[in-house]
Formats: sequence, C-alpha cells, structure tokens
Amino acid sequence: MSDQNLESEQEQEKPIKKGIYQSVRGMHDILPDQMPYWRKARRAFEDVSDFYGYGEITTPIVEPADLFIKAVGETSDIVEKEMYYLKNKAGNDALVLRPEGTAGIVRAYLEHGMQRTETHPVRLSYFGPFFRHERPQKGRYRQFWQAGFEIISTENDPIYDAQIILASYRVLEKLKLTNTTIKVNSIGSLECRKNYIKKLKAYFKTHAKKLTTEQKKKLESNPLRLLDSKDENLQELLPNVPVILDCLDTAAKKYFTKHLELLDELEVPYMLDHTLVRGLDYYSDTVFEFVLQNFDAKEEENFTLSLGGGGRYDPLFKILGGRGLAGVGAALGIERVILALENQHKIKPHELKNPVFFVHIGDLAKKKSLKIIEQLRNEKLTIIETLGKGSLSAQLKAANKHKAVFALIFGQKEAFEDSIIIRDMATGAQETIPLKRIVATLKKRFAQHD
Ligand code: AMP
Repeated sequence: MSDQNLESEQEQEKPIKKGIYQSVRGMHDILPDQMPYWRKARRAFEDVSDFYGYGEITTPIVEPADLFIKAVGETSDIVEKEMYYLKNKAGNDALVLRPEGTAGIVRAYLEHGMQRTETHPVRLSYFGPFFRHERPQKGRYRQFWQAGFEIISTENDPIYDAQIILASYRVLEKLKLTNTTIKVNSIGSLECRKNYIKKLKAYFKTHAKKLTTEQKKKLESNPLRLLDSKDENLQELLPNVPVILDCLDTAAKKYFTKHLELLDELEVPYMLDHTLVRGLDYYSDTVFEFVLQNFDAKEEENFTLSLGGGGRYDPLFKILGGRGLAGVGAALGIERVILALENQHKIKPHELKNPVFFVHIGDLAKKKSLKIIEQLRNEKLTIIETLGKGSLSAQLKAANKHKAVFALIFGQKEAFEDSIIIRDMATGAQETIPLKRIVATLKKRFAQHD
C-alpha cells in the first residue's frame, strides 16, 4: 500500500471498540448466516458457467501495478485514485491488489500461450474478490466480489457480445431477480471515440460555468467520465449531450446493429442508453450494464443499483501484447446481487433435517463416541453433539434447543455393553438397543415419524 494510501487509511479506520479490532473500513466478514445467499449466488454462477461451456479460472489477487496502468488507463478513476499498492521491504516492488478481473485473465491467457494451445473462442469464467479504494457506502465496498465471464476469440463477432450478455442475464434470471434492466450502447472504435470526445469537450466547454474545478480537470483528462457522473449539476446537462452513436463509423454502426439483432433473436430485453460509456480505456464497440431499478423503495425512491457491466475489449490485446485477438466480458458484483436477493427473496435460516442429538456420559463413553458418531454420519444421519460438555442436563438442553427428534444416550454402562439408549424427544420414551442396530432402528423410527 502506498504511504499516501496508508495515511488516509489510518485516518479513516474504524476505532478499536472495547479493545476488539474491527475489520478494515469498506471490507466485510461474511458470517455463516449470510452464507446461504453467497452459496446461492455462487451456485447460479457455476451452473451458468458449466451450461455454456466456460472454464473457470482463478488468477492471483496480487498483480503488477503496470498491468492495470496500461490496461485500464492512467486517467481512469481506478488507476488515478483507487488502487491499493503493496510494497516489499525494499519498497520498490510495484504490486497492487487487483481492482478488476479482465486484465489479469488476459495476462494469464497470454502467459500460458492459450492462443496456441486452446481452440477458440476460449470461454473463461471467474469468481473472486477485488479491491478499490472508494468511499464506502451501501453496495460500495473496498473489497468486493465479482463473478465474470470472458470470451476470447480470433475474430470480433457480435455473436460473442450477445453470448456474454446472455450468460450474465441467465445468472440474474436463475436467481429470480426482478426489476433488472440491461442498458446497452456502442462506443465504437478509438477513432470514433476521438471524434466524439472533440464534440463532447466542445459541448461541456459551452457550459463551463456549471462545472466544478474537478469536473473541468476531468474534461481535459477523460471527458467520457463526466457522462456517468451522479453529480446534480451534470445531470442537468446530460439530456442534451452529443450522442456517441452519431459519431460511429459505418463498420461500428453495422457491428452494433448486428449485436442488437442478436439480442432480439435471443429475446434478451435491453434498452439503449447513449450516455453509457464505462470507465476503462480498454473497451471498444459494445458496452453494457445490468441495472436494478427501485432497488430499495423504503430507503430511497427510484434508487438504482448497478449489478454488473462489461463490454468488448479488443484494444486490450494490443496493449498487453497479443496479436489478432478479440475479447468481450462481463462482471456481476456479488454483494449487489446479494442485496437484491435479500430484498426480493429472503432465504429462511437453514434447518437441519431430522436432527439426532448424541449425548455421552463419562470418559469411556466420550472416547468411544467420536467413532460411533462418524459411523452414523457416514450413514447420512444428521448428528449434533456437544462432546465437550460433560453434564447430562446441559446436553439434553442443547438437544431441545436444536429441535432434535431423537437423542442417543451413551453412558458408562452402555459403553461396556455395546448398547445405546434412544430417546424420543417429543414423548420422553426411551429404549435400550444394541449398538449395532442403531442405524436400522433410527431409519425405521424416522420412517414411522414422517
Ligand atoms: P466494474 O468492474 O466497475 O465494471 O463493475 C462491475 C460491477 O461490480 C458493478 O456493476 C458492481 O456491481 C460491482 N462493483 C464495482 N465496484 C464495486 C464496489 N466498490 N463495491 C461493490 N461492488 C462493486
């Protein structure tokens, strides 16, 4: 991390409360009761990834800073102010925590010579954490997770753009999320964009009085960024802003039209948004975003949440040294998908099916219990235990708390005789049976119970 970053981190860190450390600002623990949402999101991603033939890839969290400076662009927000730098002891190793997925994946693709070894298109997917030093707020964190899809090919064909959108759309569909919209636009080639930027600069310069100093700086360094600003003064100016589609050359227009026709063919709903530009230098032609409308009506009316986005990134291969290659990708923000899930489909806390509580009394029983429990679990019985607790009443209390259907009581006498007591927790009725019959007896009792 750079000294500058460290200083501001320290200023902003959460105070240590009652001597207990807090997680780093903007970075969160995912506790077991949240995990069902994460697993659901991860499962939906994995199902879609397998269904459409994507091979999952994991790249390191730490990458050379230069990779992102070159790929994402020096004037992007990510590179200008959001990257976490790491230093080794000598202080000269320019490494960063990865702020996004595509650059690392293209690096891995080129490094492993996939251009030669794989048949194309190469479809890759990933699921992992990313890091940006942004101002934390609801749905915006400094460590966040993304699930992404990439298609790397030897030709740039809009069929791949449509397939990438389809895969992300299917994940949201599998999660039964409603109120989602796909916004699409084309930013054309670098040449188209140069023309557009000229027009954009001229437009904003005629309204220079309404711009803040920061916005004036952005107008010089990266005017496209002004288009996705949420600042109120800019919102007023956006309706009349020049339209990028008017600046596209014939090839870019043809490409975009084909892309939209394919989305129509797939019956993937979308809307055109000519202000959508995305913040990274490596995009060309297609850009898109998945948006959740009215995300939290209670908190803020009409609040929209960007669930994910992506686009075509053919220029990235030139930047990173690959020849004759083209790529398109999308990434969904998992925390945001989970916020949407929590709002729309609460998952009930996980309830164990037919839990059996194992009670032990005495040291010999305790010693033998571990193996018996292991055998019962191997028979797919759900066993709960508190083997660390010695007292019978404490264990029966725990059995009630866990809503156990049966308790198995294994004491000194039973340990000597190779028997066990089975207790019906609802009626309190107990029966002693030989240990070797326990699985069959439990299965029979459950069958009668159901
Ligand atoms: P991007 O890589 O900026 O195109 O972002 C793709 C998606 O990742 C966004 O639409 C968000 O859902 C998610 N995302 C990006 N930045 C953050 C962040 N700081 N915190 C949480 N989610 C994020």
